[in-house]
Amino acid sequence: MSRLIDRLIKEGYLNSPRIIQAFKEISRADFALEELIKKEGREFIEEYNAPLSISFGQTVSQPLTVAFMLELLQPEKGDRILDIGSGSGWQTALLAKIVGQDGFVYAIERIRELKEFGQRNVGKYGFKNVEFVCGDGSKGLGDKAPFDRIIAAAAGEEIQPEWKKQLKIGGRLAAPVGNAIRLLIKTGEDKFKKKEYPGFAFVPLIKEK
Ligand code: SAM
Repeated sequence: MSRLIDRLIKEGYLNSPRIIQAFKEISRADFALEELIKKEGREFIEEYNAPLSISFGQTVSQPLTVAFMLELLQPEKGDRILDIGSGSGWQTALLAKIVGQDGFVYAIERIRELKEFGQRNVGKYGFKNVEFVCGDGSKGLGDKAPFDRIIAAAAGEEIQPEWKKQLKIGGRLAAPVGNAIRLLIKTGEDKFKKKEYPGFAFVPLIKEK
């Protein structure tokens, strides 16, 4: 097992067997820029617990943050998931592995080159349960809603109202708001349980005008 995964388990960031299994099977090195792999090597990338540049001022998220958010999200086999700000596609691939063939992941990314980069990277694993969309994820993805889970990798000033609407009752949403991660659990048509976990850093959610 990678030393990093081992440490994330020991420190309590990774708990759920299906999330741990996905971390083991999906290598973060498959989602890094080719020049970085050439310069640093795959092992360095697999053990590195910090964000990595993927150009356009964007990053592959930090493993600790992805682990923490996935444990809050609690994706299940068979879930339909909306992944907002798919970037390198690493988290998209982890989700596709977790939900399995009966589930589906819709990955939305606003920068076309990154949508294509993420799509190519996820393509290395041959998943048939992922669709990439280029667009503004702040509006969610209305024509594919409702979702069992919604996760975002870019921080807005608030949770977007469309995300709340597009979440199924009983569904979970994990998204950054400022420097905190917020978890919402939808308990009724317009009712949510809310928890907040401060102390993280994210790139901003860029909304189309
Ligand atoms: N999970 C990704 C990964 O590990 O590679 C995270 C990538 S990065 C931290 C966040 C991404 O959100 C960036 O690629 C950025 O372009 C994207 N983003 C920001 N605002 C967005 C929006 N309104 N709609 C879709 N994507 C957005």
